[in-house]
Amino acid sequence: MQKMDMLPDFAEITPTARIQTPAHGWRAKCLQRLIRLDLPVPRTVALPAATIRAIAAGHAVDVAAILAHFGDATLISVRPSPENPDWGGPGTILNIGMNAARHAGLAQRHGQAAADALYLRFVQAYATHVARLDPDMFDAAAPSADALQDALRVYEIEMDEAFPQDPARQLAEVLRSMARAWEGTTARLLRAAKGAPDEAALGLVVQEMAQGIGKGVSGSGVIQFVDPVTGLPQVTGRYLGQSQGRDALKRTEAIYLTRDPRGPSLEELAPGLFADLLRYGAACRARLREEMQIEFTIEDGHLSVLDAVKVARSARAGLKIAVALAEDGVISDAEAVLRVEPRALSELLHPQVDPRGARDVFVRGIAASPGAATGRIVFSSQAAQASAARGEPCILVRRETAPEDIRGMHSAVGVLTERGGMTSHAAVIGRGLGLPCIVGASDLKLDAKERKLVAPDGRVFREGDIITVDGTTGEALAGAADMLAPALDDSFRKLLGWADSYRDIGIRANADTPADAATARQFEAQGIGLCRTEHMFFEEDRLVVMREMIFADSAKDRAAALARLLPMQREDFVQLFDIMQGLPVCIRLFDPPLHEFLPHSREGLRELAEALDKPLSEVTRRAEALAEFNPMLGMRGVRLGVVLPEIYDMQAQAIFEATVEIARRGGSVVPEIMIPLVSARREVELVQTRIEAVAAKVRARAGAGTDFAYRLGVMVETPRAALRAGEIAQHASFLSFGTNDLTQMTYGLSRDDAGRFMNTYVQQGVFPEDPFHILDVDGVGELLHIGAERGRRTRGDLVLSICGEHGGNPESIDFCRKAGFDYVSCSPYRVPLARLAAAHLAL
Ligand code: PEP
Ligand code: MG
Repeated sequence: MQKMDMLPDFAEITPTARIQTPAHGWRAKCLQRLIRLDLPVPRTVALPAATIRAIAAGHAVDVAAILAHFGDATLISVRPSPENPDWGGPGTILNIGMNAARHAGLAQRHGQAAADALYLRFVQAYATHVARLDPDMFDAAAPSADALQDALRVYEIEMDEAFPQDPARQLAEVLRSMARAWEGTTARLLRAAKGAPDEAALGLVVQEMAQGIGKGVSGSGVIQFVDPVTGLPQVTGRYLGQSQGRDALKRTEAIYLTRDPRGPSLEELAPGLFADLLRYGAACRARLREEMQIEFTIEDGHLSVLDAVKVARSARAGLKIAVALAEDGVISDAEAVLRVEPRALSELLHPQVDPRGARDVFVRGIAASPGAATGRIVFSSQAAQASAARGEPCILVRRETAPEDIRGMHSAVGVLTERGGMTSHAAVIGRGLGLPCIVGASDLKLDAKERKLVAPDGRVFREGDIITVDGTTGEALAGAADMLAPALDDSFRKLLGWADSYRDIGIRANADTPADAATARQFEAQGIGLCRTEHMFFEEDRLVVMREMIFADSAKDRAAALARLLPMQREDFVQLFDIMQGLPVCIRLFDPPLHEFLPHSREGLRELAEALDKPLSEVTRRAEALAEFNPMLGMRGVRLGVVLPEIYDMQAQAIFEATVEIARRGGSVVPEIMIPLVSARREVELVQTRIEAVAAKVRARAGAGTDFAYRLGVMVETPRAALRAGEIAQHASFLSFGTNDLTQMTYGLSRDDAGRFMNTYVQQGVFPEDPFHILDVDGVGELLHIGAERGRRTRGDLVLSICGEHGGNPESIDFCRKAGFDYVSCSPYRVPLARLAAAHLAL
């Protein structure tokens, strides 16, 4: 039952009408701008979100009043106009108002075939989108009089009434179905995945149809002025004679707009109109401050602009376009920075398949999201999550993906689907996540039950087999392909340079090796915020010496082993300092429990006994003695430094000697030494005293003219260190919050085991997110606040930072900025994202 109490609320779009986003939506606003630019836009009426909401709730709208804006014989279209174009919306419906009388009129003017095609098209759209009949029943091989009559008959049989002839009723039904479609669960989930809020509203625009049929040059097309993949200037698009809507994009016989090797292009067919389109494009770019795709129709040589949408673009193109607009003075550099989503950068950073390597392609599909990734095949989202929990990269292979696969997609390194196109769920979400993705690989035979897929050449791949998804070319390769590091061009550097000029928090990288440090430099990190020195000891030759040190019987033997480690460690630091060129390098002293360096198998123990020239029984006994029930809470971090101080002595000596070495070469560095897993002030005091003594010794030996400075700091990783930060800061010039351990200890949650039940916890709403991924602002965050505040009360110039895995997340950066931290430190590949996210927060 329709409620008739609503007043009509809509407006014809004119240069002066009050058309506003969010009320009328982006499309209505955009059309008004085109009208203000004097572009030939057909008459258009905008219905605001409040009206559409009322229609969805069952209120009637005065369609006669809307139709009064259009001529009697005019056909109209309805298009969605949500607040944000990315939120999608119900599909456009064309040719509303079509009925037997108008069909006859059109047949007289444009011929029977053209009129049949238009009418059939409307019946198909109305039957499937408004009456919700099965689209298969209205599939016609080609438009014809018979196909039209068939469609009208099927409609009548299915609906128990003739196809509606009254344009007012047609329009009312179209509006109602579009309003309701917007409220549907699928539509809600899809737009929520793109960041739309729950209350996201839809406006609609009703527009007079410009017919792309006629005797002179007639047809329709779309034109854009940049390449959507590279973002470089280039006219692309399609035009199809005697067509309407976006037909030209779907049909292979559509011609290119310029330089068509198959025949005349639009430019050659209609040079004047083509020149007009170029002018319109330039006007849009300058005045709408955006690269637009223009939808146009030509009716007997008369050009109409129906719509203009932001050119759909890859992340790479998005960045290129933003930088080009800023360089041309169309937008400010700050706006260019804001236009690039930090998370989109990851797509630019992704590796690509090396074109020089072997390519064992087993299927081709649509290149839906660029970048390449290698992993083991999984056929379900659950399997993807389990694989991620084990730390094994996986490729999610599905017939198609649905909103409930989002967690699985988050867990996978790449996605391959049998069905779908560029705007399918997998493609859209894949691009959003920067996840290499191939869709529509329809030659695959997928058997999810049997957990296998059969390639067109008959090869069978099973769950666990390794494949590579090349989302840039759309090819899936058997096995692991050779990869190329991502190419980072001038636009990328320029944008991040602008970002740096706005952000107000430092960004450093966690880097343990020279390769990490080189990546950190490439991404312009402002230093190393965490060098985990134990990672330097896992190489084969060092491991042996390390084990000798651990098994030493006496202080003398231990000193001998450490003396052999010293030059290796010194060389590590010389290399790091060299690469970082005077930028700060924060070195964390040895952290993990010693038993991690022991062999765990009998075979390994035997080999160790041999290397140490000791009886197996003694080696085994020593290994057992070193084993702990809770190694993560055991003899690690500063506890080692207190109990076996020679290890930290050696590391400090290596750091200082490397500093002297760099100074001798004309460089300079002020190393930062960080003590891990502190829980008490006295621990820091003890280590500090010894490090000062080592520094004095190195200074004395180095002689005059080679003095050096260093800073000593504490890693806050235990709740007690945060609570006692006031007194700890007496001995520290900086505090760096290690939020991995701090999260583990605050929750009493093993960071190595929590993956097993984290999904259940998140699904049941116990935790809003995995706290090891997204900083727990409420609990761990409070400790950070307490530590920062108490530390700074002792020492006003105390440098504060965070170096856990959370460091690169925009949410954590936001927290750290607000808490007055000096910098965040994250993995080198997160540095560009962090730089951009920090700028977004500051702007
Ligand atoms: C931390 O605990 O947050 C940290 C950075 O140290 P690690 O991950 O090495 O324990
Ligand atoms: Mg730690």
